[in-house]
Amino acid sequence: MVFNLSEQNSVANHFMAELRDKSIQIDRMRFRKNMERLGEIMAYEVSKSFQYATTTVETPLGKSRINKLKHQPILITILRAGLPYFQGFLNFFDQADVAFVGAYREEGSTKDLTIRLNYVAAPSIKGRTVILIDPMLATGRSVIDSVKHLLKRGKPDHIHVVSLVSAPEGIKYLAEEMNEKYSLWTCAIDENLNSQYYIVPGLGDAGDLSFGTKL
Ligand code: URA
Repeated sequence: MVFNLSEQNSVANHFMAELRDKSIQIDRMRFRKNMERLGEIMAYEVSKSFQYATTTVETPLGKSRINKLKHQPILITILRAGLPYFQGFLNFFDQADVAFVGAYREEGSTKDLTIRLNYVAAPSIKGRTVILIDPMLATGRSVIDSVKHLLKRGKPDHIHVVSLVSAPEGIKYLAEEMNEKYSLWTCAIDENLNSQYYIVPGLGDAGDLSFGTKL
């Protein structure tokens, strides 16, 4: 299942336009805030696929029957670009367990991209609903490598991969390599990857735009 938010007209596309616009994205605070806002919108969309149980809550004036989330998901975010988008999910799934994965592209590996995982802090994902947050689904390698690593902590019930901008190459790689039950949720699907594995037209380097360049 691939859900593409940009197929519907909504304010989400307005936020995406600001993220992509090179004259607006230089405002780091606005860039992070737009990522977070889109994280909230996508969290709401994903929440429609979750299970709910009817409960009764007491208001000051009576009783109300209402459906509440049966289970909180596990949020897994890939550092560092994922952080502002992740914050949007955490705002809505506010009691979720959270896992962090540090993944980076090995320098100079432009011909055959190598992704290294150097930090993983995660609970067991056995039987759980997982939301794996990677805002830029470029090659799809970070997602697949993270999932392979996390499977050492049990087999999840379902993985929701949530992205902001996805490249067709990454979508295809996931379809070929993901052996777990998964859905892909994205705010946009772009044209392709360039020779540096950046998404075109994309928005640039989401980590640098959020937090500045690194050495
Ligand atoms: N990571 C980014 O930040 N941007 C891309 O286009 C691809 C990966």
